Amino acid sequence: MVGQDGALPLPWLEAPLRQALATQRAHALLIHGPQGVGQFELALTLAQAWLCERTTAARPCGVCASCRLVQARSHPDLLVLLPEALREPLGWTAGGDDTAGDDKAGKRKPSKDIRVDEIRQAIAFAQTTSARGRGKTVVIHPAERMNGVSANALLKTLEEPPGDARLLLSCAAPDALLPTIRSRCQAVPLALPDVAIASRWLADRSVDAPEVLLAAAGGQPQDALQWAKEGLDAGQWTALPRQVARGEVGSLAAWPLPRVVDMLQKLCHDAMRTAAGGPPRYFPAAAMPPAAALEPLSAWARELARSARHAEHPWNVGLMVESLTMQARQALAAPAVRRVPFDTLDG
Ligand SMILES: [Zn+2]
Repeated sequence: MVGQDGALPLPWLEAPLRQALATQRAHALLIHGPQGVGQFELALTLAQAWLCERTTAARPCGVCASCRLVQARSHPDLLVLLPEALREPLGWTAGGDDTAGDDKAGKRKPSKDIRVDEIRQAIAFAQTTSARGRGKTVVIHPAERMNGVSANALLKTLEEPPGDARLLLSCAAPDALLPTIRSRCQAVPLALPDVAIASRWLADRSVDAPEVLLAAAGGQPQDALQWAKEGLDAGQWTALPRQVARGEVGSLAAWPLPRVVDMLQKLCHDAMRTAAGGPPRYFPAAAMPPAAALEPLSAWARELARSARHAEHPWNVGLMVESLTMQARQALAAPAVRRVPFDTLDG
């Protein structure tokens, strides 16, 4: 959302926000794009713009009573529906009730899903009369966290929102949504941000060599920032390809398994690009080991895809990381068949 200084939460949202405000026609929008590019922030800022009482051109004013209520997370016409597990990380713990956000009395594991009773509450909320006269707005993030029952409960409301209610769904995996949900929403695509803008944003947050971590995160700046906060730095990332090619587990032992698999998939992707004579995408070119043979790399890619499906529930993480590293070493060690340079072929 826009703060009292009028600044956008993420600098690269300026154009998408302007675009969305200019082209919106439906009362249900689906913001979708790769994870870590700010779908939730865009959804909130759009909601704030709809509710803003001084709406100027391309963004909410940040200072009217309505904008301040959104900033205080207590606007009576805005409901933000998040899975329990995301409320604290996204700073949205208040959720309309007046208990303090740091109430951790219940130690039950927070749900990662948007439950059907929560969807029903949101529908009931949308049916009530707007308190400040600019309509009701419901933000649902991430929409792919609705299970089938939740999604079905929402369908009718998506088709015919009550009164002047509007819905904003944000999503990093539109394919995971019911087609009937997708077809009832106007799509608002959010692309990867410009590298220079994203790198500057990371540098402003004390990330060293931001381009390296940005590339590591596939261009997704929020993920890159999160990794930096968790202690990953550019030097460590750059050392990984050769470390793995030597079969050393090293720092990977301390990583969560899904992230190890994700990193290996990126390394495999880059090794295949290198083998095909192209530039790597996730690692600096100078960090890559010598080009390996394409065939074993393709086999490795298939193995990794299989591992990725099981990475959430490993039996023994330590063993798994070790065997993944051995697998990587073998694939990277197979020497590439020496290619004849093109310009000598016809000579
Ligand atoms: Zn305002």
